[in-house]
Amino acid sequence: MNESVSIRPHGDGPAVHHERGQRSVFCGLTGIVWLHRKIQDAFFLVVGSRTCAHLIQSAAGVMIFAEPRFATAILDQRDLAGLADVHDELDSVVGRLLERRPDIKLLFLVGSCPSEVIKIDLVRAAQRLNAKHAPKARVISYSGSGIEKTFTEGEDACLAALVPTLPAEPATAAPSLMVVGALADIVEDQFAGLFKDMGVDARFLPARRADAMPAVGPNTRFILAQPFLAETARALEARGARRIAAPYPLGAEGTTLWLKAAAETFDVPAEKFEAAIAPGLARAQMTLARQREKLGGKTIFFFPDSQLEIPLARFLAREVGMKPVDVSTPYLHRALMAEELAMLPAETRLNEGSDVDAQLDRVREKRPDITVCGLGLANPLEAEGLTTKWAIELLFTPIQGYDQAGDLAELFTRPLARRSRLEV
Ligand code: SF4
Repeated sequence: MNESVSIRPHGDGPAVHHERGQRSVFCGLTGIVWLHRKIQDAFFLVVGSRTCAHLIQSAAGVMIFAEPRFATAILDQRDLAGLADVHDELDSVVGRLLERRPDIKLLFLVGSCPSEVIKIDLVRAAQRLNAKHAPKARVISYSGSGIEKTFTEGEDACLAALVPTLPAEPATAAPSLMVVGALADIVEDQFAGLFKDMGVDARFLPARRADAMPAVGPNTRFILAQPFLAETARALEARGARRIAAPYPLGAEGTTLWLKAAAETFDVPAEKFEAAIAPGLARAQMTLARQREKLGGKTIFFFPDSQLEIPLARFLAREVGMKPVDVSTPYLHRALMAEELAMLPAETRLNEGSDVDAQLDRVREKRPDITVCGLGLANPLEAEGLTTKWAIELLFTPIQGYDQAGDLAELFTRPLARRSRLEV
């Protein structure tokens, strides 16, 4: 199937093309690689095939040697043929795992394509195992399968599954701020510090430990730190929490607008807000000025990967003067992206969905200075003389907030510098 239609959006922002066709993306299992680092007493047990095990091992690279907190319960021929009781086997695998690793407080059963195709009911399995092992360890399930989830949607599914288990905040509680989306610890600490300076007590979802997950209730105001959390946002709203609309905290401007949206919700006085952000903002602007010299005027092309493409294109266009010529995102959640779309240059070609052949045709025709794409496309495109940047690095590297703004821009200067060194 191959189609492309153009719809003018309501309000500001470029027109959106919708593409359907071949995809070249990670499945939702990949989220485990950064989520297991974030929630330090959680374990992710994928119920899948050898393919799933290999995917996680290659995505996690060297981390597999350092007593990892993820594994794959491999479905074998007997399971697939219905000869073995998969639930009995799962119970015994989980029992052995929790016995050997008493440090595990939260166990995620992660669904995959094979477990979904043969219809293993992991929701029911998680309930049964939870009844057996709670409160020592809680068991929750979500799907990371490639049929349902693209790359970062795995984090969305994981956090959405966590939301119903969060403690309830009493209706009489004072308004509280919840920052939603897995951030590197260093970024989380910086944001917590900035909010503290404004007199706002911020809590984070996910927390670093299973027993420290934030409470939620009708007085909870949440702000997304990542753009791909649509299902989690809906789950939080179902528990009465309300979302603070904002662009995402990438770059000096994005971070300021993001912090400001939260500060205004909590009636932080303007002077207090300015005083809190001034040092970080000045540092970010200084480092960005240096990167602007290297990146200004350069064109950039995004293949669809993480849903971070639009905020990144906005940041690169407005703060270091790049020209986003073609920006694809696997999904476009209009409500969650409204503020970003309004700031994206109107001449950007914006696409939702994937048709990798059409995108390859366009990238060859436009020959951008930098192409952001998955690992599978990067080397072939480099061989064609294009400079590429791996999209996955943007998830593994701390990029949000003032003190990371320069590093974020540098992630794009590095491939350019490498190519020019090789060409000398
Ligand atoms: S979940 Fe599906 S797409 Fe992901 S590794 Fe397993 S089989 Fe492949």
